[in-house]
Amino acid sequence: YQSKEIGKNTYQFYGDISTTLSRQLAIESGLRYALENHQMHLEFQPQIDLKTRNIVGIEALLRWEHPLLGNITPEEFIPIAENTGLIYKIGKWVLRTACAHNKAWQLNGYPPITIAVNLSPLQFKDPNFVSDVDNILLETELAPQYLELEITERHMQNIDLSRQVITTLKDLGVSISIDDFGTGYSSLSVLHQLPIDRMKIDQAFINDFHKNEKTSGLVKTITEMGRNLNFELVAEGIESEEQVTILKEYGCHIGQGYLFSYPLKLNQVEQLFNKYYSLQEKHRESSSP
Ligand code: C2E
Ligand code: MG
Ligand code: MG
Ligand code: MG
Repeated sequence: YQSKEIGKNTYQFYGDISTTLSRQLAIESGLRYALENHQMHLEFQPQIDLKTRNIVGIEALLRWEHPLLGNITPEEFIPIAENTGLIYKIGKWVLRTACAHNKAWQLNGYPPITIAVNLSPLQFKDPNFVSDVDNILLETELAPQYLELEITERHMQNIDLSRQVITTLKDLGVSISIDDFGTGYSSLSVLHQLPIDRMKIDQAFINDFHKNEKTSGLVKTITEMGRNLNFELVAEGIESEEQVTILKEYGCHIGQGYLFSYPLKLNQVEQLFNKYYSLQEKHRESSSP
């Protein structure tokens, strides 16, 4: 049952009944020096205004290429980074790198957009976190309104602490979104009491909602309630125009997904900007009198 990503050579080291444990150990020890060894990078997935089709934001997604095991998904290595405490260092690197790239795009003349960064609940609970964010914004010279922090319902088990952290972050001027909304247990009435800007409807709901009446009813309800509570709504995992049509009908504002773009390598991001912004120029020219 050796996994496909493990090459022939590594099978000798990682094969057999202990595959899973060895993989875990290889990831654990590799993770310690992954940044120093330049094995990590960010990819970027644009967020699109469903009405105008403008790029309004971009999400930073962490990637790690292990020298022996190949690409390891964040879903596999983030929990290990959390268990080993390495998440603090890695998380700070992600934040700094994402802010620096966003600033660089602005300096290169592109219209300013928000960069969204995913946070581990551990970072969120770290007493130094808010001042880290503040320092990184100063260091990278990114204006705070162009940084968005993504937390999940998992982050908010202690509602008083959450409110305190979110409020302090909002005071800095950054925005807050709830990622993977609908997969946790928090109610909209609780979220309503927090100064949250955006809700990202989890892709599990978007994946099959145009084929499944129950799911589409759910998406409709989430969208309506979210709008009534003044959240901006983002749909994750959009793969078809059909989904866009329905989501717009429901009043969802923003979309992210393979339909618009896969997560992009750094050098592909400006190519995408050039494509989008020259299309808009053309559109403006042809629609002006
Ligand atoms: P997420 O924040 O909900 O990110 C969305 C995930 O959906 C990404 O997977 C993205 O590549 C994928 N995706 C985007 N559009 C589509 C689509 O149209 N169809 C499908 N099937 N998938 C789509 P990825 O990059 O593997 O990230 C997985 C999760 O890992 C993220 O979920 C996030 O929770 C976590 N993660 C990623 N980067 C970081 C990070 O820097 N720090 C922390 N703490 N977590 C991260
Ligand atoms: Mg996210
Ligand atoms: Mg998500
Ligand atoms: Mg997710």
